[in-house]
Amino acid sequence: MTVSSVEDLDRQYFFHPFTHARDHERSGPLTMVSGRGSTLVDAQGKEYLDAMAGLWCVNIGYGNEEMADALAAQTRQLAYYHTFASMGNEPVARLAHRLVTDAPGDMAKVFFGNSGSDANDTQVKLVWYYNNVLGRPEKKKIISRERGYHGVTVMSGSLCGLPGMHTGFDLPLPMVRFARAPHHRFEGLEGETEEQFVARLAQELDDLIVAEGPETVAAFIAEPLQAAGGVIVPPAGYFPAIQEVLRRHDVLLIADEVVCGFGRTGEWFGSTTFGVEPDLMTVAKGITSAYVPLSAVIVSSPVWDVIASGSEKFGLFSHGYTYSAHPLAATAAMTNLDIVERDGLMGQAKARGDHLAQRLHAAFDGHPLVAEVRGHGLVGAVEFAESLEPLRRFEPRAKVSGAIVKRARELGVITRALPNADTISFSPPFVVTEAELDQMVAGTRQALDDVCRELGLA
Ligand code: PMP
Repeated sequence: MTVSSVEDLDRQYFFHPFTHARDHERSGPLTMVSGRGSTLVDAQGKEYLDAMAGLWCVNIGYGNEEMADALAAQTRQLAYYHTFASMGNEPVARLAHRLVTDAPGDMAKVFFGNSGSDANDTQVKLVWYYNNVLGRPEKKKIISRERGYHGVTVMSGSLCGLPGMHTGFDLPLPMVRFARAPHHRFEGLEGETEEQFVARLAQELDDLIVAEGPETVAAFIAEPLQAAGGVIVPPAGYFPAIQEVLRRHDVLLIADEVVCGFGRTGEWFGSTTFGVEPDLMTVAKGITSAYVPLSAVIVSSPVWDVIASGSEKFGLFSHGYTYSAHPLAATAAMTNLDIVERDGLMGQAKARGDHLAQRLHAAFDGHPLVAEVRGHGLVGAVEFAESLEPLRRFEPRAKVSGAIVKRARELGVITRALPNADTISFSPPFVVTEAELDQMVAGTRQALDDVCRELGLA
């Protein structure tokens, strides 16, 4: 099939996620055909350095042979059998044990899904079930945060603190509330130190819970580092301060580790990096490096004890997917985690992250449109603003970041624009080399210069 006929089929029949329908009909797809390490190749043979590891997920890089062999072997042995009604399989039993052992805190059980979105949906159902078992049917509201990203299902989309995720979909659902994002640069008051900012956020959360009535608030959901909403790194002491408030009001904490989990922050979980002590954890993406879709909900012992006792009250736990605990996905996860551990990729992510941060600061600090260069571990970001003093964002928001990402792609570097923040993000595979990072940053800086010239800015 020729490249143009594949593109025609795509244009005509493929309903793309997160895509402007009419623009796509005009411009068509960019079709990727192969990948190796941090490099992707499109249908025209053009190469790109993928500074985003797909969507923050291909941690071991593209084209891993060991993974291909492991998946082929499991496909031959047993590609699928379900796990309803006590059915099990070996890869999943081993993976559940590994996740419980590796997760911070007193974790007990793992429930498997297929995406970060469905796992966060499961989290809310678990929290509701938990309170129903405890005889507290009114304790159901969920507090999320502005700029949080938790998925696209009816509930997980509701949990997103990004207005664009709700527009046109009748969301959010009525039982969701939002707390302020812990972004000192943009949310801090004039002259407010980070410490004062943290104290204010904790007080605001307390005020919110008290105003709603603590007997109606079930859980708080947070990414340790807010990724898709703008790469927001919490200030020191933020989570301990927030947790003190949650405990006081008997509100469960769900840590959404979908991006952070399995080494992205330079530690195995973002919860460890930022002092989060979750009652429930969501993982996906880096669990399999996206070779096969998989997500998981990791449940702490105290929460599990209540849920398990629910069988006396409600009988069967009537929740689960055809593909829950899919043997191929579990094999992908075990192989992926083996590779990350054996090859020291978490330490490598930390070292490469330090290199990335240093290069981003060198390339972007001091530019008149750059409001902030930030990141942690192997996640980096540059945020743009129309004016720095006083700080004022561009309208529409993605004006600069969107144009930069487009231009950088022409130059062979794939980054991502996070539109709500006018931010470009970097989250490359852990196997990225220093030379590749240098190229990614240089290409993006070149794109900024080109865009400034084009738009008559700075
Ligand atoms: N939570 C977080 C923190 C995410 O970044 C994402 C996806 N970017 C999700 C949940 C949703 O995951 P999925 O796209 O697999 O449904």
